[in-house]
Amino acid sequence: MWHRPCVRVLLVEDDDAIAAPLATGLEREGYEVTRVRTGADAVAATRVDLYLLDLGLPDIDGRDVCREIRGRSTVPIIVITARGDEVDRVVGLELGADDYLVKPFGFRELVARMRAVARRSAPAADPIDAVIAVDGVRIDPRTRQVLVDGAEVTLTRKEYDLLLVLAEDPGAVVTRAQILEQVWDPHWYGPSKTLDVHVASLRKKLGDPEVIETIRGVGYRLRTT
Ligand code: CA
Repeated sequence: MWHRPCVRVLLVEDDDAIAAPLATGLEREGYEVTRVRTGADAVAATRVDLYLLDLGLPDIDGRDVCREIRGRSTVPIIVITARGDEVDRVVGLELGADDYLVKPFGFRELVARMRAVARRSAPAADPIDAVIAVDGVRIDPRTRQVLVDGAEVTLTRKEYDLLLVLAEDPGAVVTRAQILEQVWDPHWYGPSKTLDVHVASLRKKLGDPEVIETIRGVGYRLRTT
C-alpha cells in the first residue's frame, strides 16, 4: 500500500485555507503537489497524474475546466466542491470526473479516493524504477537519492541497500538473515553485529529512530503509520 510510484497531483483551489494544509498533507503522503488558483492555470498545466479540482474558481467555472481537461485527457479528476446536492454530483460525474468530494471532507477520505481512482486508471509502473515514498522518506532507485521531509540525506552504499530492502515491502518484517543475504553477501557467516550498527546509523540519518522498527529476535520492518 505504501509502495507506489510518485503521483503528480495538480491541486486546483483558490482558497488558501483549504489548499495549504491539503498540499502539505499530500506531500507528507508522498504525492508531488503543484498548486494553482485558477481554471486557466489548471487547463494550461502539463505533466499531471491526478487533478483535485475545486468547482468554485475565480475565473472559469470548475465544470468547464473539468470538461476541457476531460476532452483531451483520461487523467483522473476528483472534483472538490462546496456544492453538495445530488444534481451537482451527477453533473460532476457526467462531466467526466472520476470521483466527487463535498466540503468539508476528511483528509483520510480524500487519500482513500485518490488511491482508488489511481488504481482504477493507472497501469502499474515499473517497480524497479518507481519512487518509493514511505512516511516522509522518499527513495528514488534510479538515482539512489533519499529525501527525508524534502531534504536529501547522504547514505553509504550499505545503508542505502538496507533501506531499500526494507522499503520494498513497507510494514513487512524482513528477517536478519534475509537482510544479511541481500545487502551483504549470499553466504554471510560473519558477525551479524554489523547489521545492528548499520541500522543504528541509518536510523540516525533518517532523523526518526522509530521509522525502522526492531522485531526482537526476528528482524526489522519499516514503519507504515
Ligand atoms: Ca473555491
